[in-house]
Amino acid sequence: MSAATQIQWHVLTIGHLSRNRFWGEDEKTARRGALCTSALVRAGEAVILVDPPMQPEEMPGLLDRRAGLAVADVTHVYLTHFHGDHRFGLEAFPEAEWLMPDDECVFWDGRLAADSPDRALLERLLPVPAENSEIAPGIVTMHLPGHTPGLAGLAFTDRDGFRVVLAADAAMTRDFFEARAGYFNSHDFEAVANSIDRLRAEADVILPGHDNYFFNKRAG
Ligand SMILES: [Zn+2]
Repeated sequence: MSAATQIQWHVLTIGHLSRNRFWGEDEKTARRGALCTSALVRAGEAVILVDPPMQPEEMPGLLDRRAGLAVADVTHVYLTHFHGDHRFGLEAFPEAEWLMPDDECVFWDGRLAADSPDRALLERLLPVPAENSEIAPGIVTMHLPGHTPGLAGLAFTDRDGFRVVLAADAAMTRDFFEARAGYFNSHDFEAVANSIDRLRAEADVILPGHDNYFFNKRAG
């Protein structure tokens, strides 16, 4: 059996935005609490939770409902980037390895105040190279800067042969992807558009940061 056939992935939560300009909503005002889209990827012995979306006390129920797993079954928690809504549940997994792209670690290390409560979390995260780092068999990081400088998704070929990219906030929703658009809080809008172009060229299936997955007919 090839490595590709061993990779399985499941969507844990289908996220939504606190405000969505494609629904006619004003980006200056939050209309609702945000929920990020999160996924579980399994390859060999690795069980990787990508972007724990809910408060720690809610994570056991989510894992049970969506994957029949317990907190102790998760071997790695991977944060695509350090925004709060993509790591609400991080502390529910004290035994897992916590991973984040190295460029993202550096960016927030220079940005957080010395006394920020987030500093303890940041310091526990293991930096992994943002591009082409194999965090489990067949699962590699893909640097997709713009939303934040260090954001990196995860790319792999699933058991059906599709190239899947868990892109997180490199594409907030399908509408943002189609429009090559950043969110109101994006760091660099030109880089956002370039990262979306890369997704367009390299992914068959895209899991955005705050929407369900969708298919992409590769450019070129
Ligand atoms: Zn974000």
